[in-house]
Amino acid sequence: MTAPERAFVEDLNPNHIARHQFEQVIPYIRELAESPGLTEWLFEPEQSVNVTLPIRMDDGHIEVFYGYRVLNSAVRGPGKGGIRFHPQVSEDEVRALAAWMTLKCALVDIPFGGAKGGVQVDPRKISQHEKASITRRFIAALGSNIGPYTDIPAPDVYTDAQTMAWIFDTYSMMHPGQNNRPVVTGKPLDLGGSLGRPTATAQGALFVTERFLHLGGRPDLPSLEGATVAIQGFGNAGRNAAILFEKAGATIVAVSDTKGGIFDPNGLDVARVEEHKDRTASVVELDGTKALAPLEVLEVPCDILIPAALENQITAANADRINAKVLVEAANGPTTPAADAVLAAKGIPVLPDILANAGGVVVSYYEWVQNIEDQQWDEEEVHAKLRKKMYRATDKVISTLADVQEGIEETRTVWSESHPGEEVPYPNLRTAAYIVAAGRCATAASHRGIWP
Ligand code: GLU
Repeated sequence: MTAPERAFVEDLNPNHIARHQFEQVIPYIRELAESPGLTEWLFEPEQSVNVTLPIRMDDGHIEVFYGYRVLNSAVRGPGKGGIRFHPQVSEDEVRALAAWMTLKCALVDIPFGGAKGGVQVDPRKISQHEKASITRRFIAALGSNIGPYTDIPAPDVYTDAQTMAWIFDTYSMMHPGQNNRPVVTGKPLDLGGSLGRPTATAQGALFVTERFLHLGGRPDLPSLEGATVAIQGFGNAGRNAAILFEKAGATIVAVSDTKGGIFDPNGLDVARVEEHKDRTASVVELDGTKALAPLEVLEVPCDILIPAALENQITAANADRINAKVLVEAANGPTTPAADAVLAAKGIPVLPDILANAGGVVVSYYEWVQNIEDQQWDEEEVHAKLRKKMYRATDKVISTLADVQEGIEETRTVWSESHPGEEVPYPNLRTAAYIVAAGRCATAASHRGIWP
């Protein structure tokens, strides 16, 4: 089969992909292997709320938008996860993103479950006033389904600190007379936001990469110093990754946004790219750079490739053309299972999303703690705590991978007894991350038991 034919048959439903990834680790986790019901309980959303949002647009006409909030699991704590505004938002996408949040929070060991929200809207086609109206109506419609101890939203694709301020304000109007700051994270600083939160996703990705290289994860790439980096996406994660990886001594050779990409094998000057993006609303056509088609940035020869946009970017159609030494998933779900297999065969390690982009939710957790305690930590404290969390999670994933690879024959023997003819997938870093995360969820569920 040629690559385009494979791409045609590939199932790109994010919820199917999340389920597939979850199922891959069942043979490795005794509780799940012994109880299909537990797997079902942990993977399927506890609650899914769909709301219809009528909005009076600036010109006076009424338009209807659809919003979703999925609480995947509250087994380890209240739901946590961002809200995205994007035309591609669907219930299945939000379900997958919520499942990944549960695993992400478990992997970095913060006391949250997983949730996600989204509104199907093209944010580039609405005014700031319309965006505020959609946000407020969405939060009003969700009512008590969100709350400081039930489900705590945060920014995601095309939402930011301003959006979080509207969420906080709307929720506060509906719940007067109490400390509502911990109901949402990623707020502006003067509304209880945390120092270090805007850069946290990218900073976390940098810590994970740095640690992985330091531990010899890619012996031909000992550190970030002099490493070449290509980044897909120039939103919060991608833009800050460009700034921080450059500051850490790497050379950013390519970046992109929805309009296209730019490439300079000698290195882009990130400050110039930022200035150009702020002035023209895109990175494309920066003087002295070579133009790339939006997906071409993924195929640029580089040491570190950072997809920092949407899911399903590296698929069966282009995985064999990835030309990097390490893939760092700053986005959620950028690599499909078929692409994972191709990358494994090519020997390209993938630092999986639930590890590589967990820095955002870690500092969200710190923001939540500061809000509850009415404190403000300084930036050095947030930075040091984040580094410790990300290093610890990276170490755990790497050591778990070594352990399961060593025990693979035993796992296969045990599995084949109860599941004759079924294969045990060979583990990679994603498998290891899922084993740690799903294992922690399973343990928490067993300790709690089932009420009543
Ligand atoms: N939206 C981010 C993520 O996908 C952050 C979530 C949060 O801070 O709650 O991890």
